[in-house]
Amino acid sequence: EAITVANLARQMGVKATEVIKKLLALGLPANINQAIDFDAAALVAAEFDYEVEKAGFEEEDILQTVEDRPEDLQPRPPVVTVMGHVDHGKTSLLDAIRHTRVIDQEAGGITQHIGAYFVELDGRHITFLDTPGHEAFTAMRARGAKVTDIVILVVAADDGVMQQTVEAINHSKAAGVPIMVAINKIDKPNANPDRVKRELSEHGLLPEEWGGDVTMVEISAKKKMGIEELLEMVLLQAELMELKANPNKPARGRVIEAKLDKGRGPVATILVQEGTLREGNAYVCGTYFGRVRSMFNDKGQKVTAAGPSVPVEVIGLSGVPNAGDDFVVLADEKQAKLVAEHRQLKAREKELSRTTKVTLEKLYGQIRDGQIQEISVILKTDVQGSLEAIRDSLLKLSTPDVKVSLIHAGTGAISESDVMLASASNALIIGFNVRADAKAQELAEQEKVSIRYYDVIYQILDDIKDAMVGLLEPQY
Ligand code: GDP
Repeated sequence: EAITVANLARQMGVKATEVIKKLLALGLPANINQAIDFDAAALVAAEFDYEVEKAGFEEEDILQTVEDRPEDLQPRPPVVTVMGHVDHGKTSLLDAIRHTRVIDQEAGGITQHIGAYFVELDGRHITFLDTPGHEAFTAMRARGAKVTDIVILVVAADDGVMQQTVEAINHSKAAGVPIMVAINKIDKPNANPDRVKRELSEHGLLPEEWGGDVTMVEISAKKKMGIEELLEMVLLQAELMELKANPNKPARGRVIEAKLDKGRGPVATILVQEGTLREGNAYVCGTYFGRVRSMFNDKGQKVTAAGPSVPVEVIGLSGVPNAGDDFVVLADEKQAKLVAEHRQLKAREKELSRTTKVTLEKLYGQIRDGQIQEISVILKTDVQGSLEAIRDSLLKLSTPDVKVSLIHAGTGAISESDVMLASASNALIIGFNVRADAKAQELAEQEKVSIRYYDVIYQILDDIKDAMVGLLEPQY
């Protein structure tokens, strides 16, 4: 539990500067809006003859997480996200799957866009997230939501591996999610699947037929060729992963998307991850709470229960949550309210303290204290030549104690997507002869991601080395 310096000072009726002075004397430099922990607060308060009491509330006391016994776990459908370069056919593939597997089979059911849909193949199921691309994927991950089990990377056979293909590969790898490849547009006369495989191999994705472990299926989303085979492969991959969850307990899930509906009020699509969600359940969702008034599936049909990996639209929210927020069922509404109010408080405190995620200066302290053994970097440069030079030199800096790992490297301005990846992976961004665009700059401030700009290569290497051995002077 944390308290801000300003808040502590106010509660003791002393000036914040007095508190800051005492903190400094204790070797704990802090600014007025910074949150300090219980121990630091107790030390300072003692200096002013105050005692600090722990606010007896731990969210986890209420959100009791009971470990599942192995016998409670049952197989659950895989959750799939489609990624790939723009115009390579992500949307077409999602549509093709929806058409071949949903519309034809469920007479009368009209598919609704709720952010995710559920398909059946011989009694087995797959859940597809309907927002393709790595931006949405990583934005969720930055909120601590891990919902995707498998990534389908779409690569157009006439175009090959492009910039966003590489980004998608790196975002998936950073998340530790296995990739399957759909080589699309094979109906085109200039399609060259072998070239795609060769290019993917250069990025570490080696096809099975060449002795690798990545499944690659040739498809045409437009002509609906290879779709069933691709789905079969997804199910096979899922089987290998032994995805399981306990359906017989109160539900926990994540918000896939949410909106304010004119007639129905706030509406959120929840992907249930464990347990079973039922009509009437009391829940907390991000900083909101309430009761599930009614639920609808992806065909717009009313349902009363939804188990693991099933997406449902939930009505009965007190506000519009964010994609990636958690959704937890509690014993009753009173408890849900308690948790929600506590979260609102914490959100305000966090907003006040505004700490940066990773800076080179902070890294040294963490390395010294053994908290981390790795410096994660996202590198953006002006040209390919400098990218390769810097990448090679950076990787060579790794020591047995501290690894320098490059999560993503590319040319061009620092984008929002880079910032989200940095936020989700706790990485810092290095720009060499490039800047962040305005939106990325804004997002970096919001997500507290550190961006450092350079125009001399050795300066980058010096700074990283200094961070590794603790000689780096803070940059103000
Ligand atoms: P996205 O940007 O990755 O979502 O790509 P889209 O699904 O919007 O597809 C981009 C363009 O490629 C559209 O004009 C599609 O009709 C076309 N397209 C998608 N799949 C295929 C395919 O299998 N064959 C051919 N010939 N065209 C395709």
